[in-house]
Amino acid sequence: MLTDRTRVRRHADRGSHDRATIHAILDEAYVCHVGFVAEGSPVVIPTAFVRVDDAIYLHGAVANHMLRSLAGGACCVTVTLLDALVLAKSAFHHSMNYRSVVVFGRGRVVDTHDQKRAVLDALVDRLAPQRSLHTRGPDDSELRATLVIEVPITEASAKIRSGPPVDSAEDLVLPHWSGLIPIVTSLGAPIPAP
Ligand SMILES: Cc1cc2nc3c(=O)[nH]c(=O)nc-3n(C[C@H](O)[C@H](O)[C@H](O)COP(=O)(O)OP(=O)(O)OC[C@H]3O[C@@H](n4cnc5c(N)ncnc54)[C@H](O)[C@@H]3O)c2cc1C
Repeated sequence: MLTDRTRVRRHADRGSHDRATIHAILDEAYVCHVGFVAEGSPVVIPTAFVRVDDAIYLHGAVANHMLRSLAGGACCVTVTLLDALVLAKSAFHHSMNYRSVVVFGRGRVVDTHDQKRAVLDALVDRLAPQRSLHTRGPDDSELRATLVIEVPITEASAKIRSGPPVDSAEDLVLPHWSGLIPIVTSLGAPIPAP
C-alpha cells in the first residue's frame, strides 16, 4: 500500500499503511468522497460505498457521470471519521481528532450479475446487518440499470490524530479552557415507514 504518493509526509507519525487499520476506518464509514478529473476539471462527489476484501465498491445509475468516468479511469477515494474537536490555549493549535483514509486507484466495471448481486447485498448489509436476507433483492432489470464500480485498495494510506491539544509551553499558563469535545455518531431508535 505504501507508494511514493501514499507516503504521509506532513506529520508522518500519524500515517499508517497497515491493511487492518485502513480496513477498520473504511468499515466504520458510510460515506466516501470520490475525486476524479472530468473534462479537465477536478470533481469530488460524496457517495455511499462498501468495502469487500481488498476493494471499495461504488454503485449508481448507469447514466451516473462519476461512475462512467471511473470505468477504467483514475480516482482518489477518501473517507473521514471525526472523533473530537481539539480546543487549544492558542488559536493556532486548535485541531480535530480524526481517522481518515486516502485510496488511489482506477475503477473497473463489475460486469457479471453474480458479482453485482454480491456487492449490492454487501451494501445493504452495511446499512443493517443481514438486511439482504430480509429484503427483496435486485431483479435482472434493476441489475441492468445499476452500474457497479470496483476500486482496488492497493495504494492507500491512513492518517490518525488522537489525544489532547498540543500547546506551546509558554501558553500553558493562559487562563483559556483547553481540551477535547468528543464527537459521537450514533444510530437512533428505528422509525417504521408510514
Ligand atoms: C477532519 C480533518 C481535518 C483536517 N484539517 C486540516 C487543516 O485544517 N489543515 C491542514 O493542513 N490539514 C488538515 N488535515 C490534515 C490533512 O488531511 C493533510 O494530511 C494535511 O493537510 C497534509 O497535507 P499534505 O498534502 O501536505 O500531505 P502529504 O503528507 O504531503 O500527503 C502525502 C500522502 O499522504 C497521505 N495523506 C495525507 N493526508 C492524509 C489523510 N488525512 N488521510 C489519509 N492519508 C493522507 C496521502 O496518501 C497523500 O497522498 C485534516 C484532516 C482531517 C481528516
